[in-house]
Amino acid sequence: MRAQPAASHFVDGAYLEDTAGAPIDVVYPATGEVIARLHEATPAVIERALASARDAQREWAARMPVERARILRRASDIMRERNRALSELETLDTGKPLQETLVADATSGADALEYFAGLAPTVTGETIPLGRDFVYTIREPLGVCVGIGAWNYPTQIACWKGAPALALGNAMIFKPSEVTPLSALKVAEILIEAGLPAGLFNVVQGRGAVGGALISDPRVAKVSLTGSVETGKKVYATAAAGMRHVTMELGGKSPLIVFDDADIEDAVGGAILGNFYSSGQVCSNGTRVFVQKGIKERFLARLKERTQAVRMGDPLDETIQMGPLVSEAQLEKVLHYVETGRKEGARLVTGGGRGTGNAGFYLEPTVFADVTDDMTIAREEIFGPVMAVLDFEGEEEVVTRANETEFGLSAGVFTRDLTRAHRVISRLEAGSCWINAYNLAPVEAPFGGVKLSGVGRENSKAAIEHYSQVKSVYVGMGPVEAPY
Ligand code: NAD
Repeated sequence: MRAQPAASHFVDGAYLEDTAGAPIDVVYPATGEVIARLHEATPAVIERALASARDAQREWAARMPVERARILRRASDIMRERNRALSELETLDTGKPLQETLVADATSGADALEYFAGLAPTVTGETIPLGRDFVYTIREPLGVCVGIGAWNYPTQIACWKGAPALALGNAMIFKPSEVTPLSALKVAEILIEAGLPAGLFNVVQGRGAVGGALISDPRVAKVSLTGSVETGKKVYATAAAGMRHVTMELGGKSPLIVFDDADIEDAVGGAILGNFYSSGQVCSNGTRVFVQKGIKERFLARLKERTQAVRMGDPLDETIQMGPLVSEAQLEKVLHYVETGRKEGARLVTGGGRGTGNAGFYLEPTVFADVTDDMTIAREEIFGPVMAVLDFEGEEEVVTRANETEFGLSAGVFTRDLTRAHRVISRLEAGSCWINAYNLAPVEAPFGGVKLSGVGRENSKAAIEHYSQVKSVYVGMGPVEAPY
């Protein structure tokens, strides 16, 4: 098997196997070939992961922040040096084209390691003067954190959670998605090679029940999930039972609003990036594209032309721009939405088919026009390359319609009128927004959603709040005046 790792798990500084766990077959989405066979974590593996993380965390938290930073910085350098090999593995694991994985996965993971390495030594408390007395605060790590990943960006998700956790003195136990379990093991290997003490970044494999077992353990202080809203509700409820900290990065059905004064070429580019990158399997995608009536036909004509030029095929071929979906189950789900779009009366502008000559889980980039707010494809998260184009007349109307969703992850506006851009963005109920751009998520910017799309923020200085807690210390400087 061409991507078989040394063992299923990485615990306490080394690969670890326990074949008593249920098997997990890893499938290359471009061909359907099984490329690795792993095993779910057994209770014994979970126990070792928790015990080693707990032991290692105390010593790690006591280190100088600059020492922790140095290790993370070294890991980011190793990651960049190995970008090609890591990208090839990511492509095998996810089916995303190498053209993308070379610039968006290990590189984004390395950015997170580098950024949080830089931030670690800057984290301080404050002093609050109270006349004679004073209070000082200390930012302390939470302890053992659990990260649970989705399958669309396995390396990036492992690093977006692992880097801030480690920088602030925590341990991280990461459970990748069972659909894409390979890359996180490489992240663990690299961290150890960079000098991270054993036990601080453990990777355990498994389906939902393994995630559930991890977060119900009293030794765990926090869980950060990237996944669907449905899973988020379950994980949040389990975390609540133990009063644990949570970060929830969940799904979306985000609006991308194109006003008639927009640069059409840029707006079409934004809509393409926000719907077809990674075969549309991106949580923040702007899948409801509201186009003002005056430019509708011009926008659609150019969108069709550019979409039909997309080169779909073997993701390991660097000239290929679009690969398959991650799994057969995901393909079936998305095909069902395409069928529903047709049945409910949306106009298919392009795509909708499987493409020819491809054995894997491929679906052509698909555009529906004349979509109305009540249609299923305008309401539910599809998580595939299916764009819904809706018409609108005025600003007030489009803001109201854009907000009529339970989700609130992202939103975008294309217009040359900057006053309008800021006014509209300020009224949209979403956590991560763009003006005249879409889907760029640099580590320097906070990322996360509102409403059902989640709680908490990843990346940026905001992540400090989510991987540490404040201790406040009152210092009495005079005699204690007790009333009796
Ligand atoms: P999913 O919800 O099916 O699974 C996510 C993870 O949760 C997996 O590792 C899974 O094993 C685990 N899990 C499932 N049930 C669990 C339980 N009861 N307890 C603990 N863990 C459990 O999501 P997916 O299909 O892997 O990913 C797609 C979804 O993720 C989409 O909805 C997408 O929008 C969302 N997503 C969000 C972001 C973001 O940052 N907001 C990023 C990527 C993906």
